[in-house]
Amino acid sequence: MGKRTRGNCHQLSTVCFLQEVKNQRQATNRLRTLNSRATESNEQRERRIHCNALGNHNRIGAETFDARRNRLQLERVRQGTLRASNWLYLKDEALYYDPNLDYPNFPQIVIGSMLSKCTFCGALKFEAEASGLCCSNGKVSLPEVPQLPEPLKSLMEGNHPKSKEFLSMIRKYNSSFQMTSFGTSLPMLDSTGFMPTFRIQDQVYHKAGSLMSLLIEEAKFLQIYFLGNEEAEAKRRCTLIPGTTRSLIESLQKMLHENNHYVQKFKMAIEDNPTEDLQIVIKADKKPIEGHERVFNTPALNEVAIILAGNDFAKRHIVLTKLSNELKNICETHISYDALQYTLMFPRGEDGYTININQVEPGTSNQINKMVSAMSFYAYRLMVRSTENRLLNYRDNF
Ligand SMILES: [Zn+2]
Repeated sequence: MGKRTRGNCHQLSTVCFLQEVKNQRQATNRLRTLNSRATESNEQRERRIHCNALGNHNRIGAETFDARRNRLQLERVRQGTLRASNWLYLKDEALYYDPNLDYPNFPQIVIGSMLSKCTFCGALKFEAEASGLCCSNGKVSLPEVPQLPEPLKSLMEGNHPKSKEFLSMIRKYNSSFQMTSFGTSLPMLDSTGFMPTFRIQDQVYHKAGSLMSLLIEEAKFLQIYFLGNEEAEAKRRCTLIPGTTRSLIESLQKMLHENNHYVQKFKMAIEDNPTEDLQIVIKADKKPIEGHERVFNTPALNEVAIILAGNDFAKRHIVLTKLSNELKNICETHISYDALQYTLMFPRGEDGYTININQVEPGTSNQINKMVSAMSFYAYRLMVRSTENRLLNYRDNF
């Protein structure tokens, strides 16, 4: 046993010695290379880089299919190991915060400031963020989101006496005005107990009911807007969503009646068509109004088409009937999907994502024959630019 241990020690010391020799040789080589590079002229440096590039090019050009595959595989492993070794010692560090460590000195943690500015859309980004993250390198160009109407603007910006209360319950206030209901295709669990949790399973959907409620039912969602008088409306909203302040509900309600194009058009349609078989169709892909490219598109009169019952409708259109107890799913790529659910985020009924938004030639407004994806659309919308992005201030309303 003792002999074997001595033998192992001998082997180990030999390995250590050889490793030491290797390290020294590598250090000497590195030093020699550094010295020779420090003394080389610009011309010599350019020649060396050119020769190296040529050598690499020839070597890669001459390698077989298998050699190329092996080289790329080795390169991937080397890169992966390097990346892992950089991150491994910080694994789960966020869960074990140590106040004695000087985290700003860890290069892996410090991501810097948003100093990088996209030349196409002006988005501010962190240095390591991909160039196409904001606007797909100039291929996505959307109109600016317009200013909010009052009193919502002051409430959101903290300039209203009730701002604090409003912002702390912004989801409740939005729920008081949403025109569609929200649900999931599987039952929600854990919705009781001390800390009720809202859990979502499977697909999320938004549903729209009829414009008016049936006689035996109380008005809900969109129907509340057409109760006929302000007081009844505000009372119904406060009953449905308790905890909100009546005076705030009243002023926001007034704002929506004055500014929201859907509310205005629907109201007009109900007043002009007293028949019970009235149907209102909101087309799925309204096109921007020509000549107003930088103006956010709000539904024009002809875009909320009024069609009598019995017509055929495209699958993605929203068809609202005047009186029924039927709830209809709204397609998530419908241009009104966001505006009908997040009424206080899009108080004028501003357009959301739809499948027919064309990409543009980078740096121009010339449309090309490719469409903007939903991910690119929302990425563009959520970026920080020189003017404040008001969509980012909606706290838990998302
Ligand atoms: Zn950009």
